[in-house]
Amino acid sequence: MKIGIVGYKGRMGKEIKDLFEEKNHEFVWGYDKDGEYFQEKPQLIIDFSLPEVFEKTEDYVKKFKVPLIIGTTGLQDEQIEALKTLSKDVPVVQSYNFSIGIQLFLKMADLLKDKIYGWDVEIVETHHRFKKDKPSGTAKMIKESLDKDVPISSLRLGNVAGDHVLYMANLGEVLSISHRALSRRAFAEGVLKSAEFVINKKNGYFTFTDVI
Ligand code: NAD
Repeated sequence: MKIGIVGYKGRMGKEIKDLFEEKNHEFVWGYDKDGEYFQEKPQLIIDFSLPEVFEKTEDYVKKFKVPLIIGTTGLQDEQIEALKTLSKDVPVVQSYNFSIGIQLFLKMADLLKDKIYGWDVEIVETHHRFKKDKPSGTAKMIKESLDKDVPISSLRLGNVAGDHVLYMANLGEVLSISHRALSRRAFAEGVLKSAEFVINKKNGYFTFTDVI
């Protein structure tokens, strides 16, 4: 595959570029703060940047008419709507978390949500000090999966790649589900799976749940 990355100079951008190159795919196009890197037209665009870059990504996807995988967090509702519109013409995979473990976490939360009536439920997420958005997109996904308004606490500590804990307690016991990303490689692996999934699709809106 010949890939393009929006945010290719960032932490996730570099991790994704390295993994794809290890697997003999080619990085041929990129966009970052200092502009465009162009070797040739990519077959796929991957965006791990910031919400304010979204309109640029949209323009490039339309220009190249290629699939989009977007992991950028903190997107506005209108930007999610714009992705859905875009997906009528090209395939789009959007997720706030591309790790397999968080997909399993969501399944467990879904299994438990009807059985913890009256319990205290809280989410705690921890990320590295450079993370711009708060709470994390993953914490919002966990909250949505519970179908109820639960508090989220956010910690910004050192170089933590991503920790999420869902606490549930009644007066006699505490139950928790927790996930720790040991490195950004876990997310990059999910992006590679998504690329293999989406590369030959004509159009459609997908999440990482559809991919695995
Ligand atoms: P980062 O700050 O290291 O990288 C962001 C990149 O975007 C940088 O290279 C930066 O120069 C570039 N950028 C910033 N403003 C720009 C602009 N105006 N125009 C062009 N490029 C611009 O951040 P990161 O840790 O790599 O994370 C990137 C995004 O991915 C964040 O939204 C983060 O929350 C998200 N993320 C998602 C997942 C997931 O699984 N979905 C996992 C990790 C991180």
